[in-house]
Amino acid sequence: MKPLSLYLHFPFCRRKCSYCDFNSHVPQEGEQEAYLVALRREIEARAPRARGHMVETVYLGGGTPTVYAVEQLAEVLNFLRLHFAFRKNGLEARPTGTEGERSLEITCEANPGTVDAAYLRALREAGVNRLSLGVQSFRDDELRLLGRVHSAEEASQAARAAREAGFGNLSLDLIAGLPGQTGVAWEESLRQALALAPEHLSCYGLSLPPGTPLAAAVERGELTPLDEDTSAALWVRTHGVLTGAAYDHYEVSNFARPGYPCRHNLTYWHNGEYLGFGVSAASYCEGCRSVNVAEVNEYTRRTAAGESVVAESECLPPSARLGETMMLALRLAEGADLAALRSTFGDVEMARLEPRAQEMQEAGLLEISDNRWRPTLRGMMLNNRLAGAFV
Ligand code: SF4
Repeated sequence: MKPLSLYLHFPFCRRKCSYCDFNSHVPQEGEQEAYLVALRREIEARAPRARGHMVETVYLGGGTPTVYAVEQLAEVLNFLRLHFAFRKNGLEARPTGTEGERSLEITCEANPGTVDAAYLRALREAGVNRLSLGVQSFRDDELRLLGRVHSAEEASQAARAAREAGFGNLSLDLIAGLPGQTGVAWEESLRQALALAPEHLSCYGLSLPPGTPLAAAVERGELTPLDEDTSAALWVRTHGVLTGAAYDHYEVSNFARPGYPCRHNLTYWHNGEYLGFGVSAASYCEGCRSVNVAEVNEYTRRTAAGESVVAESECLPPSARLGETMMLALRLAEGADLAALRSTFGDVEMARLEPRAQEMQEAGLLEISDNRWRPTLRGMMLNNRLAGAFV
């Protein structure tokens, strides 16, 4: 059976963070419940397409999935199990590179301000075996600037409670490059994260999407964003601190203990097949991409009327698929496996990319060896430039 990943989007949050332009909002009365009904309808309608596939990873993301009662998330997971063939339900955290590598990974994103020990125990019992905590910073002044609903101490407590609840695969999200952030302040957050010994760390650079309160404060001149050199220095510092603490820098913004990369996200980077459910969720199957409508009301209306919830879809020709596959693969330290790509796309298509690979090698962004194209460290840092050469 072909491997498949499932993503479920929960578009609700307790409060909107100051930098956030994700599809999420504070729910109105009854909206959360109506959305769950709609989600079940979409799952039911689309599951028959997945015959012949085996679900290997599930990701509950958002928004904040944990604004739901844990029983509601458990019901959604049970509903998925009824409609899809799941690989054995790995209640144990099983790292890659072991005999359990292909066991089921079920991740849930959680906001530290929304979970306690009892919640996390129940989540674990529901089959979630990987927890991704949105910590963002271990400094309260930074958390206030970001508009987060939790303090640094609450984030640490949530991480400890996750361990007590039996999560052996814990990921922490941090955001680097806040206005005025110094290397010392950033490293303080990194060190506090390391003290909690997570299996995985995601370190994203702050972006300032137009329309967010943080971007508006920058426009008014109240805050000064970091310049490119300072942001690059933070990225290099992150690499140094985390690889020095025995984490693999396996993707541009992601670090893991050996054997603990996020397998769900590896599906995306390997250009594997996934189905996304819920508003704005993207899917990719048999070379075709689609994305769902963004509005919760429209989504619930369409599911109730038995209409498709797809807003846009496109089936890519092989040359575009190769470009995308390359762009995604070059986000990963392991890079692109040329033999596998030749067998999928053919020698002629691959030969067309060779001059660009040479150019990137000469620019110091790409390493060509062992039948692989791998980004150099500089190539990972300047990933937009490297990836852009292949699309
Ligand atoms: S918790 Fe996450 S999704 Fe929700 S508003 Fe904050 S950044 Fe956005």
